[in-house]
Amino acid sequence: MALGALAGYVLLTTGFTTLVTHWIKPWGTIFIRLLKLIAVPLVFVSLIKGVSQMGDLTRLTQLGLKTVSTYIVTTLLAVSLGMSLVGIIRPGSLLPAEKTAELNKAYRDNLGDKVAQADVMQETGPLQFIVDIIPENLAMAATDNSKMLQIIFVALIAGIALIAIGHEKAAPLLPVIDAANAVILKIVDFIMLYAPLGVFALMAGMVTDFAGDTAIFSSLGLYALTVVLALGILAFLVYPLAVQLLARYPGREFMKGIFPIQLLAFSTSSSAATLPFTMEHAQKKLGISEETASFVFPVGATINMDGTSAYQAVSILFIAQLYGIDLTTAQLISILLLTVLASIGTPGVPGGSIVMTVMVLSSVGIPTEGLVIILGIDRPLDMLRTVVNVSGDVFVAKLMDKKKK
Ligand code: ASP
Repeated sequence: MALGALAGYVLLTTGFTTLVTHWIKPWGTIFIRLLKLIAVPLVFVSLIKGVSQMGDLTRLTQLGLKTVSTYIVTTLLAVSLGMSLVGIIRPGSLLPAEKTAELNKAYRDNLGDKVAQADVMQETGPLQFIVDIIPENLAMAATDNSKMLQIIFVALIAGIALIAIGHEKAAPLLPVIDAANAVILKIVDFIMLYAPLGVFALMAGMVTDFAGDTAIFSSLGLYALTVVLALGILAFLVYPLAVQLLARYPGREFMKGIFPIQLLAFSTSSSAATLPFTMEHAQKKLGISEETASFVFPVGATINMDGTSAYQAVSILFIAQLYGIDLTTAQLISILLLTVLASIGTPGVPGGSIVMTVMVLSSVGIPTEGLVIILGIDRPLDMLRTVVNVSGDVFVAKLMDKKKK
């Protein structure tokens, strides 16, 4: 990150701008393309896996349904918190008006067919968005990243059907889905290996694109602070208070108990990698029963990501602010819903949510290139949101344990 920014700055001030745009920037574009490439298969397989796993558990106990609905409620709260904070703080507005106007013009120049699409939508009436969720053809849905909602729809139906046919009939398919999921996660791993180079190139490109305009950096700093504030409120205020009030467990004890889990989440940046430790430690130190731990945590590591969803909400609206895009209420509602879905589909791996953020951006028509601006500082924010992701899982586990008694 720092090297990329430095290289970009040095090359810019010494007049080598074309060196950056022709020889360095493409490596950043490749990184973004790789992320987009893996998006469709990732969403498809991880959602089928998530849903079918859920079904196995719900058959045994009602707890599954309760857990999932609590997860969705906490995620909705986290997204609303993120959206409100970024709306109040408006980090994007630190960008000088001319820069926003420039970005906005570039965006509008590309907008031609989107406007045409919007016109068609007005003619077809308000229910069109439901019609649009159902693809006519799976292959066509998979060719367009902005049709991700169609992919999600098919994956949900497939997951539910997998439960409905019963375990015996589904049995041959489950290991295949598991393996496919592992392959896709491995590819994400590979892409992440390339990330340092990609981020270097993106940063260098960004510095030259912004022609050394430091305003973007102060804007970026305020954006990072907004993310940290949202995550801090969740981790230090919402969870301890809610655990005290709803689970009747001392908030302080809770904070002390989850600290080692949070540390591991922070250093690995992965809720999936933290999972085995979460399960063991929560039982030993927080008195969570084995039955609750054994299903609330694995499902939580897959679908419950409060930190990620708050982060995504802030990022998406920040990018819209940078481009000077005024979002309509309908767009805000779709961002809210899509972000909840996106956090469910986000794998618990480092940088897992980047791909999903691309999906939400393209679904609501915000330029995906905007992601470049925030990617450079993603890693520290990833570490922090992972901390909140695992904390949220432990909170819900504590709550479920209490309800059972
Ligand atoms: N790294 C996060 C996790 O594992 C996912 C993400 O937000 O990128 O929970």
